[in-house]
Amino acid sequence: MSDRNLLEAYSLMRRVTPFGFDCGRLCGARCCRGGENDGMVLFNGEAELLRGIEGFEIKRSGDTEILICSGVCDRRTRPLACRFYPFYPLIREDAGKTRFDVVYDIRGISSCPAVSRQFKPNVNFIRAVRKAALWLARDEKNLKILRDTAALFRDICELNEKLL
Ligand code: SF4
Ligand code: SF4
Repeated sequence: MSDRNLLEAYSLMRRVTPFGFDCGRLCGARCCRGGENDGMVLFNGEAELLRGIEGFEIKRSGDTEILICSGVCDRRTRPLACRFYPFYPLIREDAGKTRFDVVYDIRGISSCPAVSRQFKPNVNFIRAVRKAALWLARDEKNLKILRDTAALFRDICELNEKLL
């Protein structure tokens, strides 16, 4: 992993926020209140960047590195999964070109009001997520994470449709 790709992605997500208000006030920041079995999938290179930070524990599950946090962090050290949430860059590969659609993170449909009620995002946030994803996709391992997550999103959507 080129550090540059990851650092560009971090930098793009540094100053943007998903909405024009603090959505955490509506739900008590529910997305930061997971249990010890919840965690954020880390992109390639993030573990090296975040290891040793107080309140963070990094576990490995197969090829995947997962960050478990204490529910409180310094905003500047959040992983990309948290910087993107409640959105996610959904990869679309057409005719040899890689594009990203920034979508509500379907995994939050039952827990995150921003997802279930589709709060209107800041345009600059969506643009930053898309650009950050393009930097990440330059790395093969991260491309795989982005593809795997897109497949997971499709599976969840199909299951939801069947259950409706
Ligand atoms: S992203 Fe969703 S769960 Fe997290 S603070 Fe905002 S509204 Fe709450
Ligand atoms: S790392 Fe920070 S932003 Fe991410 S879930 Fe934990 S406390 Fe929330």
